Amino acid sequence: LSTTDHIEPHRICVCVRKRPLNKQEMNKKEIDVVSIPGKGALLVHEPKQKVDLTKYLDNQNFHFDFSFDETATNELVYKFTAKPLVQSIFEGGMATCFAYGQTGSGKTHTMGGDFTGRQQNSSKGIYALAAQDVFAYLNHKRYANLDLSAYVSFFEIYNGKVYDLLNKKAKLRVLEDDRQQVQVVGLEEIYVTTAEDVIKMIQLGSSCRTSGQTSANANSSRSHAILQIVLRRNDRATTLHGKFSLIDLAGNERGTDVSSNDRNTLVETSEINRSLLALKECIRSLGMNSDHIPFRMSTLTKVLRDSFIGERSRTCMIAMVSPGLTSCEYTMNTLRYADRVKEL
Ligand code: ADP
Ligand code: MG
Repeated sequence: LSTTDHIEPHRICVCVRKRPLNKQEMNKKEIDVVSIPGKGALLVHEPKQKVDLTKYLDNQNFHFDFSFDETATNELVYKFTAKPLVQSIFEGGMATCFAYGQTGSGKTHTMGGDFTGRQQNSSKGIYALAAQDVFAYLNHKRYANLDLSAYVSFFEIYNGKVYDLLNKKAKLRVLEDDRQQVQVVGLEEIYVTTAEDVIKMIQLGSSCRTSGQTSANANSSRSHAILQIVLRRNDRATTLHGKFSLIDLAGNERGTDVSSNDRNTLVETSEINRSLLALKECIRSLGMNSDHIPFRMSTLTKVLRDSFIGERSRTCMIAMVSPGLTSCEYTMNTLRYADRVKEL
């Protein structure tokens, strides 16, 4: 932390991250159709065939604030995405960082890191890296006179319902009062004093997320997980100073899956579609400086209302893509979505 690394964040920053081909994909000789030719650029080259059977590459170019290739570490991604937003919450802002993409594209790897399971000292994700910086800033003299404390909440939205990951998946209600303030009633907010405290909460919440119900892993890809780091003043009312919401979104691939007619799946699908559409609309309204932010369109956008309203809000979206040819259709959907939320 130094005064020279003051990065003025964009109001909306949209980035893309490509994960490497994994072992199975390599074994199956999966073709890599995504390349990152330069800063912010991304190219999808899909092999196609003409009617006369001559082969060609269908090239599609995209451009974002940053594009990260398969060699990028979580630390690098963090530095250009969430890190500038940590500073903004100390300056009294509301920040959101979203991981968007199909299941298996790297959302949880990027946000949660890979330390929640098997390996001991594997890579930290954006949750943990942001937590480290929050405490570095809290202990820094530049912000000492603010007299702040940090708290965390961690919850999941599944089928439009909120479940508290820090309180045994208690089902919570979302209420809007007559001053349009939105509250998740009874949400646990844990006082934390070190980054390790936050990491413990993330581990607790993540284990809660992937266990409990029968097809639990499948479920977690159909829910949004929201970690909030909240800064409050140490006054009697513990007044809110700033809030950072870090969101591991539900997999977007079901949006194109019309083959399933299982009722539960249909309900899940329409809820996910609805919330991702609502999110896109809210971010676009932010980008256009519109007075009307349609946050009531979904539970996801409702609970993030604070972050969409107000001058100092900052948003970063990281669109994750799988490199393989078999994921090409989903990759294109992800890139088109990300393209739409870019600030105009
Ligand atoms: P999602 O949460 O989007 O469904 P995951 O984060 O669980 O996807 O990633 C799927 C698999 O790919 C995991 O085993 C994860 O460790 C691996 N993976 C994802 N991104 C990367 C990356 N950038 N580098 C290495 N492995 C990755
Ligand atoms: Mg995941």
